[in-house]
Amino acid sequence: MKLTPLLLEKIPLIKQWIATTLEKHKLYEIPVANLNFSNLPLYYSKRILNSAKIVTVDKVPIPPLSEMGLGELENLKNFEDGNYAGVTYIDTYFLLRDCMTNELLHFHELVHIIQWEHLGIDKFLLTYGVGILQHGYINSPLEVMVRKYEKLFNQKTSSYDIENSVRKELDKIVPHIADNRI
Ligand SMILES: [Zn+2]
Repeated sequence: MKLTPLLLEKIPLIKQWIATTLEKHKLYEIPVANLNFSNLPLYYSKRILNSAKIVTVDKVPIPPLSEMGLGELENLKNFEDGNYAGVTYIDTYFLLRDCMTNELLHFHELVHIIQWEHLGIDKFLLTYGVGILQHGYINSPLEVMVRKYEKLFNQKTSSYDIENSVRKELDKIVPHIADNRI
């Protein structure tokens, strides 16, 4: 059975779940710029730091993929069952309360914000989903990309235009991921 069509079929359900989840937390959102981190502005524009929103939670919300009929796909089931410090949906990310002062985690989720923005909702979900199906969460291409930029952040590279770099890289790798459908 082709797995990508199954994922494609379920994307409207995932989008609906995301919309409901964001709506439910709307009152608690704050822009990342409000947290006044000192290093994030070296890598991200004011536009992104003002438009990206954070919600602190006790448990990071993950779509109920099994209920949506995707539970038979092992890598997606593992993803659903994982414990995460943070997750990003469109222009908002959810972080565990204990992790709010961890600037690296904010940096991580902001790379995802750029990925969502550049790809758009449908293409992000398909690319992220296919990446997990093929490689598992840790080795999925959009997570591998984020970890590469984390290295730059950890090395305290003086300043770097992450946004532009992520966009260029997505233009290069995403058509390849889409061609490589299961
Ligand atoms: Zn991530």
